[in-house]
Amino acid sequence: MHPDVQRLLAVQVDDIELYALEDKLASLSPRIAALEKERGKVAGQLDRARTSILSEESRHREAQLRVDANKALVTRAQRQYESVTSPKEANAAIVQLEQSKRMVDESERDSQQIQGRINELRHHVAELESALTEVENRQATTRSELDTERKSIEGEIAKAQAKREEKAKAVPRPMLTKYDRVRLRKRTESVFPLRGASCSACDTAIPTQRRASMAATGALEMCEGCGVLLYAGE
Ligand SMILES: [Zn+2]
Repeated sequence: MHPDVQRLLAVQVDDIELYALEDKLASLSPRIAALEKERGKVAGQLDRARTSILSEESRHREAQLRVDANKALVTRAQRQYESVTSPKEANAAIVQLEQSKRMVDESERDSQQIQGRINELRHHVAELESALTEVENRQATTRSELDTERKSIEGEIAKAQAKREEKAKAVPRPMLTKYDRVRLRKRTESVFPLRGASCSACDTAIPTQRRASMAATGALEMCEGCGVLLYAGE
């Protein structure tokens, strides 16, 4: 085997180790996303409940303004009644007074209903707040374990990367470039020996002339059957 090929195979060993580490790191993402989703569900409900309180509080303020306005109408109708000068005027004033009292009652009922909803919502918010705290506390250990795991894998990747780069320096640039193009697409073993007259990955036969030139120069040739890079073995 040509020494350049030998050096390239050493780089490939490191690359395969790196793929495994990268896959391990990527496998943490769905676990973190699952935690996020669980927490986000409760946090979203809490946000919506808090927003509902704000809008009900604004409706309650408006309802109170209507109560005050209706009470002012009662006061005015009362004064009207006290200053009547004829039975006819007295009847009209009583009708007016009773009508405005009914309006006060109605607007007060309205306001109380809104206040009732606000109380329910506040209760709901308190429940959701403790549910959120519960989720966060329960997740804390898992999250910190995942974080530790992530940092440790990232450290291993950095180390493996440095080792790989060091070995890659010994491989001629054109060979490395050819290899990188294939491996980045495959993300798995991508350099194979010839087995007899064929590709050892897929058994496609390689023409005699190409095999002879591979053996003479140590050059890598791409298999037309499966796209891996082939070298003359032994
Ligand atoms: Zn092949």
